[in-house]
Amino acid sequence: MKLPTITHIRAYSMGGAAAKIHGQGGGDYHDQGKDHWIDNHIATPMSKYKEYEQSRQSFGLNVLGTLVVEVEASDGTTGFAISTAGTIGCFIVEHHLSRFVEGKRVDQIKLIHDQMLNSTLFYSGGGGVVINTISAVDLALWDLYGKVVKLPVYKLLGGAVRDEIHFYATGARPDLAQKMGFIGGKLPTHWSSAFGDEGIEKDIATLADMRERVGDKFWLMFDCWMSQDVNYATKLAHAAAPYKLKWMEECFPPNQIESYRELKKNMPKGMLMTTGEHTGTLEGFKELSDAGVDILQPDVGWCGGVTSLCEIAAIAKSRGQLVVPHGSSVYSHHAVITFTNTPFSEMLMTAPKADHVRPQFDPVLLDEPVPHDGIITAEELDKPGFGVELNRSCPLERPFEH
Ligand SMILES: [Mg+2]
Repeated sequence: MKLPTITHIRAYSMGGAAAKIHGQGGGDYHDQGKDHWIDNHIATPMSKYKEYEQSRQSFGLNVLGTLVVEVEASDGTTGFAISTAGTIGCFIVEHHLSRFVEGKRVDQIKLIHDQMLNSTLFYSGGGGVVINTISAVDLALWDLYGKVVKLPVYKLLGGAVRDEIHFYATGARPDLAQKMGFIGGKLPTHWSSAFGDEGIEKDIATLADMRERVGDKFWLMFDCWMSQDVNYATKLAHAAAPYKLKWMEECFPPNQIESYRELKKNMPKGMLMTTGEHTGTLEGFKELSDAGVDILQPDVGWCGGVTSLCEIAAIAKSRGQLVVPHGSSVYSHHAVITFTNTPFSEMLMTAPKADHVRPQFDPVLLDEPVPHDGIITAEELDKPGFGVELNRSCPLERPFEH
């Protein structure tokens, strides 16, 4: 089969705090409107500053906005993907990464991926917005390849190892998630080490209330968004154990490897330690794995795309650890259904009150599948590429061209 070459790559941005229209969601799902649970006094490393305690948007969490990368092949087929990188990502795609993409065959994804990673080492700092951008290009390439050969990405990756994906829900209302058929609910912590024992008491009160509502068996987890120190995390974990907390997630910033190693030793036996959504290199995931993280949680839109996610899953597998990606909807679904060490997956609840299932990247993707009774089947993913189309009625801008 003679495969076409890639003729064009284009990058668009949407929303973000600096844009004319923000509060758009999409690839930057933190860019939501007012009164959304995702911006309601969630503990962060900025919580220690009174003026930034209430809202993550107040310190710029939604500053980037959505990046849409579109690639076009010589036979006219197009593929696309999204991430969180906005206008900065557009600059990187159009003025830098385009040279590695245009002119290559649609199946040369690993070669392009390696050239993107190595050519940006001098300014990527091992992660951040550069890796988000590279991820979007990688995902767009997989989408294009799948659309050209008319196969879903999961079949290009070796095929499904299970018939369906079971989801837990991340949001403010695990009790409602239980009614929607999810297997568990992950709560954001609202208090950080800046608040000491009083913070622990308040988050434990929320956990106790939720445990009362959902009964004994339903999974409950804490997402701590890098807001703690080892002592605080240790005390919180022990206080949470009587309420059967399943895991403590991302207690520390990604590079505090020693803190993770120490927490793992201190935690109640059986409770899991998880992290990874803000780690952007393969080496970073190896360090987290070495430190004893039980579940690696790369975000496929922030870790280097599907190409990197498969490598990270192999690191976890080599130690009997799980890889359960951070949200990311279809871009995760097509990978995790091929992984033997991903027994369940995450659904991020983007409905403002977390009271119904809304597609995570709404409104940018058309036909984005969502869990029904907590499940998405392999059959639902059985469409070329990632099986979604770009919603061109979104206010997309192309700030740079090459
Ligand atoms: Mg998290």
